[in-house]
Order: sequence, then C-alpha cells, then structure tokens
Amino acid sequence: MAGIIIKPRARVFHGHDWVYGSEIKKTFGDPQPGDVISLKDFRDRPLGTAIYNPESQIVARRISRRKQKLDREFLLRRIGQAIELRERSGLDPRLARIVWSESDGLPGVIVDRYGDHLVLQTLTLAMSLHRQEIVDVLVELLSPASVILRNDSPMLVAEGIEQETLMMYGERPDTFVVEAPSVEGGVKFEIDLMDGQKTGLYLDQLDAHREIAKLAKGKRVLDCFCNQGGFALACAKAGAASVTAVDSSESAIEATRRNAELNGVEVNAVQHNAFDFLKHCEDQYDLVILDPPSFTKNKKSLNNAMRGYKEIHLRGIKLLDRDGILASYCCSHHASRELFLQNIVSASVDAKRSLRLIASHGQRLDHPVLPAIPETEYLKGFVLQLVPSR
Ligand code: SAH
Repeated sequence: MAGIIIKPRARVFHGHDWVYGSEIKKTFGDPQPGDVISLKDFRDRPLGTAIYNPESQIVARRISRRKQKLDREFLLRRIGQAIELRERSGLDPRLARIVWSESDGLPGVIVDRYGDHLVLQTLTLAMSLHRQEIVDVLVELLSPASVILRNDSPMLVAEGIEQETLMMYGERPDTFVVEAPSVEGGVKFEIDLMDGQKTGLYLDQLDAHREIAKLAKGKRVLDCFCNQGGFALACAKAGAASVTAVDSSESAIEATRRNAELNGVEVNAVQHNAFDFLKHCEDQYDLVILDPPSFTKNKKSLNNAMRGYKEIHLRGIKLLDRDGILASYCCSHHASRELFLQNIVSASVDAKRSLRLIASHGQRLDHPVLPAIPETEYLKGFVLQLVPSR
C-alpha cells in the first residue's frame, strides 16, 4: 500500500487523526487522490490507515490504527457502531445525526435522520468515491424510505469535490412533518429535504430547545436567529406569555410561521437583521435567546467575530427585565467556551449588570466530542440570569 511518512511531533502522535501537508516527511508508492494509504513514523513504524487527498490542507485523515481496507465490511461495522451509540444514548434515534465524521471514525461522512428519511454528506474525496457503498450499508441497517445526498457544503471546494444534491435511494420525498420531543406533546416541524434551507431543523440544538423551554412558562420570550423556530416553538408550547422570533431569512421566517400554525401556537415571527432589531427594540423581555450562525470560520477573523458576539450580548442584556434570562450559543470551533463566556461577562460589565450562571450547554450525544480532536467540539451555550441591581 502506498503511504506517507510523518514528521516527528505531528498531531497524530498526540491522538489526532489528521495529517497536514506540513507534517509530511515524504510519500512512498505514489498515492493517488482518494486512495486509502498507510501512515508511518520516521522510523518506519506503522501508525495505521488513512484516506488521502493532496488537494486538501488536511492531506490524510486516519481511519484506523491498524491495517484497514475501506470496504463494505468496514463501513458496516463503523456505521453499525454509530447507530448503536445513538440508540443507547437515550435520544430519539429517528431524529438525530446518525454518523458524524471523525467522531464516528468516518472522516467526512455525515448522516442525519429525519424519521424515515436520511440525508448524507460526503465531504472527503475518498468517502465521496465510496458513497454508493455507504448508501447500500445505510439501507441495509436502517431500511429508510429515501437517502438524499446533500453535498452543498462550502467545505467541498477545499477538497475538490463537486457540489450537488442527488437522490441516492428511494423516491424524492415531499415535504413532511417530524415531531421533536422538546416539550410534552412534542413540537412539529415541517421538513423539506430537497429545497429546504439546511433541511429545516438543526438537530444539534434539540436538547437546548428542551432545556430553554423549561424556563419559558409565563415569560416574554425573544428568540433571535430563530431559523425555523426551534426555540420559539418549544417556548410557546411550554406556555410562554409571548414569543417573538427574529431571522433575516425570508424562507426561515415563513417556515417559522407555518410551524407555529402546525403546532397551534402564536409566534410573532419578524424578518429582520437581528443586530438592527436588538439595537432598535423598545420592548423588554424575560428570556432572550441568541443562537447566531458561526461568525468565524477561521482563527484570523476571531477578533471580529468576538466583537459581533459582544454587541449582541450587550444589547440582549439591556433588553432583559428584572430577573431576566439570557441564553447565548456559539457554534464556532475557534471561540472556546472560556472565551465565549468571558465575552458575555464583558458585555454585562459594560451594561453595569451582574449575571448568575444557571446552565452550561454543549453538544448532544449524537455529535460526540473527541477531546484528542479539538475540531470535533464547536457548540457551546450559556444560560445566565440577571442578579437584582446592587
Ligand atoms: N436557533 C435555530 C438555529 C439558528 S441557525 C434553531 O435552534 O434551530 C442561524 C440562523 O441565523 C439562520 O436561520 C440564519 O438565517 C440566521 N441569520 C444569519 N445572519 C442573521 C442576521 N444578521 N440577523 C438575523 N438572522 C440571521
């Protein structure tokens, strides 16, 4: 098998599975893009098997510490283990991320389950070349009605893979409804897997919706960056006094309105830039939720991103009434938990208010974090309550 020899002190010697171009001492046997290759240290000792793409900054991604073929047997075992983990974790395995890339030992493979339907992404070249085998294994293990390939991530460009959306198995599904167990009685969401902006539901926030809904009874709630109404609907169903939901996307706001109707609740859904909305808002709230998209995709723009978070934190805190609660989320890997919490604290100092931490949120068990691969951790959230003015 062709392969690469890795320089000393590279990430793989510390438990990581990625090899960057700068960590390669030399290649041997002429490996080709998309190949399965062997990894060796500088003394020729084997370090396992990886998938290879010299076009990517991450030239190799380890798939096993042993010799391993990327074949049906391997996919069946790894996908089977991933499904079992979700089934044992207590969350609804029919509405969950079934496979999550490095965290499930399948770099670049993401599978989301929405009831009877599966959405597949293959974000690495080797996995993209093996996508039909992945689909066959998914069909064998889960008997879905359909499997859709939604390779529309901008990450594909870095790997040199074409962006496309394709039916891989079954009939193209119409819009359908799933029920999330965020509150008693469930919250219904309309799902459009073919055209929906990001499939209509962020699975990674389902636990947070439930936790925040527990705080919402009788409260005036503001859900900023609401997408299709995840927090807003859960809070409304949990008995909030009023719910306002803001998103800049027209289709997200329309979906929020349709979902509110579907659930028989009232949500005031406003299409607006959340920064401007927060700036000009004259109402007060008991619970303000901030769940923006990642403001930074790299380390370079981290300072700018933190300024953005600070602004919404400051404005969010100022809208809180007595005992008000701020729930703020960050889905950027580059902003650490500590940095993000510090950002909220710094905004509270500017607002001359004190905050008490009442909950810390992280990733659901269907998005497992491997601490040896820090890039698997991205989502963090803090729930804080105003301390009475002193
Ligand atoms: N809270 C949602 C997920 C939010 S995803 C949930 O729990 O399901 C981030 C959302 O922010 C997207 O819907 C996007 O349309 C919206 N968004 C991005 N920039 C925005 C801006 N400047 N103002 C308001 N919404 C914005």
